[in-house]
Amino acid sequence: MFQELLELSVLDLTTDVNKVACVTPENSLEHALLVLVKSGYSAIPVLDRSGVVQGTISKTLILDSILGLERIEFEQLGAGKVEDAMNRDVTRIRVGDGFMRALELAINTPFLCVEDDDGRFVGILTRSSILTRVHRFMRAETRGANRSSSSSS
Ligand code: AMP
Repeated sequence: MFQELLELSVLDLTTDVNKVACVTPENSLEHALLVLVKSGYSAIPVLDRSGVVQGTISKTLILDSILGLERIEFEQLGAGKVEDAMNRDVTRIRVGDGFMRALELAINTPFLCVEDDDGRFVGILTRSSILTRVHRFMRAETRGANRSSSSSS
């Protein structure tokens, strides 16, 4: 059972690119903020035209980029571009990587950008999808342990 968990492929846990809310580096900050608010996600990937991840953008980064000395300069939202505010430090994982690698990377980031062997984005691997599998495994193990301790008493 533990082996099954270790042998899970990154693809088994990946949310497909078609279901991932994304923006492009050229999109306006206003558009990105709309996507973030409408989708309810705090951060989403930024994909270029060839389908390669260039960064991530969040509500916090957008607001920070239009922060003036005395007030938030909302009028800057339409003019500013996603590429001016995005975080370029992306946590990436390859489709061929294993569960332990995903678990390790997810300690410090809520989602990982999953890439194929050519570096193209295929989807995201979220911390919740990893925790769901770990929880399923631990629940099964706990039930098994309880059953064997009650049958031996
Ligand atoms: P979760 O572990 O499900 O809370 O997801 C962690 C993070 O991944 C969220 O806070 C979002 O930033 C991002 N995320 C999850 N699902 C999506 C999605 N379908 N599209 C874009 N970003 C997502």
